[in-house]
Amino acid sequence: MNLQEETEFLLKQNGLKANKQLGQNFLINEEIIDQIVEKSQVTKEDVVIEIGPGLGSLTAKLLEVAKKVIAIEIDGQLATFLKKRFSLYDNFELIVEDVLKVNLKELTGKYEHVKVVANLPYYITTPIIMKLLEEKLALESITVMVQKEVGERFCATPNGKEYGAITLSILYYTNPQIVIDVPKENFHPVPEVDSVVVKLDILKEPPVSLKDTKLFFQLIKAGFSQRRKTISNSLSGMGIAKEEIKQVLEQVGLKENLRAENLSIHDFENIANCLTKN
Ligand code: SAM
Repeated sequence: MNLQEETEFLLKQNGLKANKQLGQNFLINEEIIDQIVEKSQVTKEDVVIEIGPGLGSLTAKLLEVAKKVIAIEIDGQLATFLKKRFSLYDNFELIVEDVLKVNLKELTGKYEHVKVVANLPYYITTPIIMKLLEEKLALESITVMVQKEVGERFCATPNGKEYGAITLSILYYTNPQIVIDVPKENFHPVPEVDSVVVKLDILKEPPVSLKDTKLFFQLIKAGFSQRRKTISNSLSGMGIAKEEIKQVLEQVGLKENLRAENLSIHDFENIANCLTKN
């Protein structure tokens, strides 16, 4: 039986149906699961946090290579199935809860090497990623399947339409990379969009040195909330005097007519630090 047949069989046998509202699109290609595990570089030293194990196809492979897998699943019916499926594994732990409500700091704080590996529920991709990053957990990397469009935004470079506030947040905390392209036919049920697997290697220190981190993120938010505005107009909208804006942009070597999408993370760093000094 291949994974597609097995997935359909297990759902039927257990009286389950993929729940669209919970973003349940199960991976049915074993090769892609192997590739995710390979790209995640999980070893026997690592504790893996898997968000949304579903029927456990990825979990089963992770259990073979990791020291321990802590799976967080919101769906009680799937949880009952998973408990049975992995009852003989002493390196499997299941938390039946909404991942956004789990105290991840406490959970991950007990271990030395922690990696996140998951095929994420797409309806809450960004809140999950931001929780993982902003709570400053001691993670080494996050290897996750996301909607292609979202993955492209995470890994975008300046001057394109994908580049935005989320790109800069990701860059502040990680070194991001798209590692696998996954067409939609590899899921059951088939979703409307293609996917990619992104690997976010967590940085020990941010790539920017800031006098005022809050101001740096305020500038990014202001810059991208109206993408068509020039950076000069965005700064003016933040209540900064025209003369000061002119001076700051001149000092950091940026033309007044540039937009947020044209600025690198270091341009935002320079503007923020210059404004703090003035
Ligand atoms: N890992 C499985 C696979 O690859 O076949 C299933 C992935 S499926 C895209 C997303 C999984 O996340 C589902 O099992 C779903 O029930 C679970 N999920 C959805 N919302 C969740 C939440 N808030 N917290 C934890 N798990 C959630």
